[in-house]
Amino acid sequence: MLEITLILTFSASSLSLRAEGRRTGRRNQMIHREHPIAVRREAVRHVKFSNSPWRGYREIVLPRSRLRRGFIFIFFGSRGIVSNDSAAPVKQRCPRCGRETEMVAKRYRNWFTLFFIPVFPISAPRKFIQCVNCGAQFPLAADAARAVAQASDAQQTQQAIGLYNSLRSSPANSITLNQLMMLYASLKEYDQAISAAADFPQALNASEQCMTTLARVYLAQNKFAEALQWFGAAIERNPHLGEAHYYKGVAHMLTEPPDLTQAVASARAARNAGYPGADELLQQAQEKARAAEG
Ligand SMILES: [Zn+2]
Repeated sequence: MLEITLILTFSASSLSLRAEGRRTGRRNQMIHREHPIAVRREAVRHVKFSNSPWRGYREIVLPRSRLRRGFIFIFFGSRGIVSNDSAAPVKQRCPRCGRETEMVAKRYRNWFTLFFIPVFPISAPRKFIQCVNCGAQFPLAADAARAVAQASDAQQTQQAIGLYNSLRSSPANSITLNQLMMLYASLKEYDQAISAAADFPQALNASEQCMTTLARVYLAQNKFAEALQWFGAAIERNPHLGEAHYYKGVAHMLTEPPDLTQAVASARAARNAGYPGADELLQQAQEKARAAEG
């Protein structure tokens, strides 16, 4: 049993040395075949001399010495860092949440990290703006966003002038008046919208839609009496106008004190007309009414 093990061990070492010899050159391979173990010892002894003919045998010794030296681990990588930008925030309607909020200026930069600590930046800063309300980010520098908003405002003002001129030539055109009031409302120029309605009474009095828009403008200004008056006029012309019922309900809930019975009735009428969001308004009005009773 011992003999067999010894033979196996010997032939295994001889095989491995032959493999080394094949890698290091034909001359050495020949010597290997003759005296495998003797050659290995020679190699180890001569390894220090650079002019030694056994130079190729370093490979046998090197792996062991390398392992003894051990390893040094260096953790490096990269990390994106977001920081605040010095530019002033932009007041703008957020395209995601639809709220009129502030868009704060931010910047993003990739940093080279050593042991997880940022050492130096490896990318140019990328500026963007972020909605304060919902956190949505848009790839636009604050100044560029401001310029876009201003250009859009200027364009809308130009558009309003065009609509006004068109109304002067056909003062009974309710569709144009409604467009004009909606445009002023979107620019938050509520007084302009109200004066446009006063300038073209023919167009206003022929259209429940114009009356509803005018009432919504008053509602936006918290002028509830005027708002309710015009919602009432619109509903008189068309009792199935869901929009008028819906915002009439909103107005009844906002008055001080709120008229919750009327709010519930208006919300129910809006729901019956299939106006979107009327269900939620009805629930809200009913809950408030119940709370007021209890
Ligand atoms: Zn938002």
